[in-house]
Amino acid sequence: MATVTALHAGGAVAAIGVLDLQGGVVEHLDHLARLGLRGIPVKKEEDFATLAGLIIPGGESTCLARLLRIFGLREVILREFDRGMKIWGTCAGAILLAREVIDDAPFFGLIDIRLERNSFGSQLDSFKTEADVPQVSPERMPLTFIRAPKILSAGPDVRILLALDDYIAAAENDGVLVTAFHPELTGCLAFHRYFALKCGLRPSVETFSTIDASWDMRSWTRRAPRVIRR
Ligand code: GLN
Repeated sequence: MATVTALHAGGAVAAIGVLDLQGGVVEHLDHLARLGLRGIPVKKEEDFATLAGLIIPGGESTCLARLLRIFGLREVILREFDRGMKIWGTCAGAILLAREVIDDAPFFGLIDIRLERNSFGSQLDSFKTEADVPQVSPERMPLTFIRAPKILSAGPDVRILLALDDYIAAAENDGVLVTAFHPELTGCLAFHRYFALKCGLRPSVETFSTIDASWDMRSWTRRAPRVIRR
């Protein structure tokens, strides 16, 4: 895997885009910035030009699917994926990437997982826990599940990164990473680092679990000092 900072034609440093239609956009941008990575909000076709990777954030998958169709971005994203852009879906993003969604049509179908939406119950059944994910970090990491899906099974070309109780919580294939939980809502940077490496980018900040003293649950709304919205 390439770990040098990738340059695109024209010399621009490759960026990781965060799909900026609905959901947890600023939180992901803030985590990328904390790792010294170039993260940009993307919502127009031309925004996708220099992306090494795309994060589809958590939010509401039906709403995101509608907006993706309205803005004509489904085809743009599939085209860039075919050209080598990696994609990470958190929660609703993972739902959009799954090949099979119980009682729902698949949207992108780019990773061979079978998934059930809202599988823990209502918003009030959201929870926090912790787990070791050795491929991603040497340190135990906090996990935040918000009205999350359960990944119930995965095909043979899918690598399972984290299984808990009766479900899979994180998995990947060569082009796609999915997490049922929200690393961007914790002080942990390990999954953002892991995704950057998958995209061939090297974070300039050498930390996994930045339990950065300046971070708290309201960091992005309070300060988000590293994020400049266009
Ligand atoms: N329950 C949401 C859905 O089905 C996902 C929630 C989330 O992204 N945190 O789309």
